[in-house]
Amino acid sequence: MPSRFLPLDETLFRYVLDHSVREHPAQVALREATQDQPHAGMQISPDQGQLMALLVRLLGARRTIEIGVYTGYSALCVALALPEDGRVLACDINEDYVRVGRPHWQAAGVAHKIQVQIGPALKTLDARLDAGEAGQYDFAFIDADKTGYDGYYERCLRLLRPGGLVAIDNVLWSGSVARPAQDADTAALQALNDKLHADARIDIAMVAISDGITLARKR
Ligand code: SAH
Ligand code: CA
Repeated sequence: MPSRFLPLDETLFRYVLDHSVREHPAQVALREATQDQPHAGMQISPDQGQLMALLVRLLGARRTIEIGVYTGYSALCVALALPEDGRVLACDINEDYVRVGRPHWQAAGVAHKIQVQIGPALKTLDARLDAGEAGQYDFAFIDADKTGYDGYYERCLRLLRPGGLVAIDNVLWSGSVARPAQDADTAALQALNDKLHADARIDIAMVAISDGITLARKR
């Protein structure tokens, strides 16, 4: 469970986990089940899951969006923080990953809150906008392909109500955003970070937890 970017040593990172994280047993089991999967490092860390759950509760969120589900740990963190009638619109292109998470969503008693949409997230979000759902969501978490982030951000901003929150993951990209870009993912994150800093439609904080999360509150 590497912290990846933060200059915390292992001892201090362990201390943070030990003094903030309160996991349901199904969250622990889902993290353990993910260890054997390819790309297990893509899963958000437990302290980040804890922060997202707190934000969801602060917002009083009921309708949420997740772009990039993987094996479903972040969706589980959000679903557990939602009220009984809360929903996660969970977007991913890969059903094989999502299948790993389902039994753990069931075990936590929140599977009914997580509505999986398999397919390119941009298509799913555009379909929701076409269905007239602009302004109806409280929270969105963007954590899929980095070159797609700008398109996801623009759609999410329209789908959110004023006062709603977008959380954007991996905005520090292991520190590479602060150096000249060598690849398309880094360039895309740099361009989005620049754009959001100047974006008058939002209130912003860039939080150096995990691989960096930008919190953008729709004005
Ligand atoms: N939030 C997850 C990690 C997501 S990893 C967790 O905490 O465990 C990124 C995910 O984005 C992968 O599962 C990948 O299949 C998905 N993805 C990549 N491109 C996508 C696209 N165009 N639309 C939807 N999902 C996509
Ligand atoms: Ca991520």
